[in-house]
Amino acid sequence: MSQEKSISECRRCGTCCKKGGPSFHIEDKQLIEKGIIPTKFIYTIRQGELAYDNIRRALLPVTSDIIKIKGRGETWCCIYYDEQETACRIYENRPVECRVLKCWDTRELEDIFEKNRLTRKDLLAEVEGLWDLIDEHDRRCSYEKLGQLVARLKQEKSNAIAGQILEIVEYDNQLRKLVVERGQLDEQILDFLFGRPLEETFHMFGLRIERKEGKIMLVPVDR
Ligand code: SF4
Ligand code: SF4
Repeated sequence: MSQEKSISECRRCGTCCKKGGPSFHIEDKQLIEKGIIPTKFIYTIRQGELAYDNIRRALLPVTSDIIKIKGRGETWCCIYYDEQETACRIYENRPVECRVLKCWDTRELEDIFEKNRLTRKDLLAEVEGLWDLIDEHDRRCSYEKLGQLVARLKQEKSNAIAGQILEIVEYDNQLRKLVVERGQLDEQILDFLFGRPLEETFHMFGLRIERKEGKIMLVPVDR
């Protein structure tokens, strides 16, 4: 994958930062543990969720947690990219993917890309109570399980299966509200703890969640 064949050193143009923040690897663990990169600025792509694979250049289901730096607002641009200064606001502490990225020769990035990915378990397994909650959420809201249910729904057109799917979506939704209201967790860290809400990611199955007059339903994305 070579984007800029005509250059041989970084011009600090920011194009790579504008295309999205990096994924974290084990080497980056202390950046999060020490709060250099706060958890409110990161999110998790959960196992089975579709994500754009920069190396294979395709949308593929991820094989384990991928923790990434959030984009700014609705854009892909890394939250740490300073457009005015055309600079990284955490340059000295930028994660390993940013340190090895050379857009004119991506072999080093390709070499580490799928290795030693940092997971939520690496960061949170010792946090009593919270890890159990995340683990339970992961099992109940597994993308693999949801994919199987959606496949059956499309084949059998069964209300009972639609009900099972919507129950999972509601559990995901309610859990997030509960940990904010009762657990007093910062709303901004939910996408790190539990991945992005199913209501936001469900379009990967060709369906979206619609709420109307107190009812929740599944509708095709193109409707
Ligand atoms: S590595 Fe990124 S910032 Fe540097 S020249 Fe390439 S696209 Fe621009
Ligand atoms: S952390 Fe810094 S170098 Fe890495 S993508 Fe964000 S702004 Fe760019």
